[in-house]
Amino acid sequence: MGTILFDKVALIGIGLIGSSIARDLKDLGLAREIVVSTRSAETLKRAEELSLGTRYTLSAADAAADADLVIVSVPVGASESVAKQIADHLKPGAIVTDVGSTKASVIAQMAPHIPQGVHFIAGHPLAGTEKSGPDAGFEGLFRGRWCILTPLPGTDEGALAKLRFFWEALGSRVDLMDPEHHDKVLAIVSHLPHIIAYNIVGTADDLEAVTQSEVIKYSASGFRDFTRLAASDPTMWRDVCLHNKDAILEMLSRFSEDLAYLQRAIRWGEGDKLFELFSRTREVRRSIIEAGQDVDVPDFGRHALDKKN
Ligand code: NAP
Repeated sequence: MGTILFDKVALIGIGLIGSSIARDLKDLGLAREIVVSTRSAETLKRAEELSLGTRYTLSAADAAADADLVIVSVPVGASESVAKQIADHLKPGAIVTDVGSTKASVIAQMAPHIPQGVHFIAGHPLAGTEKSGPDAGFEGLFRGRWCILTPLPGTDEGALAKLRFFWEALGSRVDLMDPEHHDKVLAIVSHLPHIIAYNIVGTADDLEAVTQSEVIKYSASGFRDFTRLAASDPTMWRDVCLHNKDAILEMLSRFSEDLAYLQRAIRWGEGDKLFELFSRTREVRRSIIEAGQDVDVPDFGRHALDKKN
């Protein structure tokens, strides 16, 4: 048993992220009580079968009542509805946080409903896979990954320190960021790559001159790596696009300009321009490996991840 950080933790939403937190909480012995709440009876039953908590309820309000830490892990578009459900049941001094992939929108949806005396600090662990649901989670998902917290002016320092300590206990490195800045950074490092992957896989699926079976048969040529991102949860990614609209549109227009440059270089046979860009991008990959954010194996570490699932 580790050090108990919170007497009662309420996990609202128990998919990939919520269930990974649950597994770590249990494994590390960080809470006396873990109350699991989710929207559907089916997911709740599965969470219970997997023994993810110590108590299970379909009512977010019931879960949040008396909790010392409430972690909301639902698609970002559902944040306001959850905040409304729990608002009147939160105890003074409780910490409420989330794990959503966009931050300004989640704060706008939740903060107005959180009562005085309750500490709301939004957050985003930069860890995940393309899978969803309670079975998809695993112990150690957050180990060695970044978690970004986006406190607001006036956020209680003690509550912030406690939340930071919680993520560090799960093995994460914590950074603090302004919510709008978070949304810009994530638009380029996560949202744009997913949108590009959805687009490429969609285009390949629509092609008439190349058959579906050929696309699948020869997919190891590059296409396959995009399909992993494009297999991500449609609800989650619909919400990310709708709730980080401005930053995503800004990055998409930069992307289109750069793509036009590449298109021109190919059209006019400007090999030096292509070579210069491809050399620069190769360096980016090297820096990511050096920073410990990926492993230098041809399957991008996926086999190691699959073993955990
Ligand atoms: P997930 O596996 O699909 O689980 C979603 C959870 O939210 C389930 O408990 C689901 O309940 C519940 N839910 C779905 N729609 C809801 C609604 N309208 N109202 C209330 N509850 C709802 O999702 P996840 O991958 O854990 O993602 C959760 C959050 O983490 C998202 O905000 C996402 O942006 C963020 N995030 C995801 C990743 C990733 O790689 N997946 C990484 C970092 C952050 P039922 O099953 O009972 O319907």
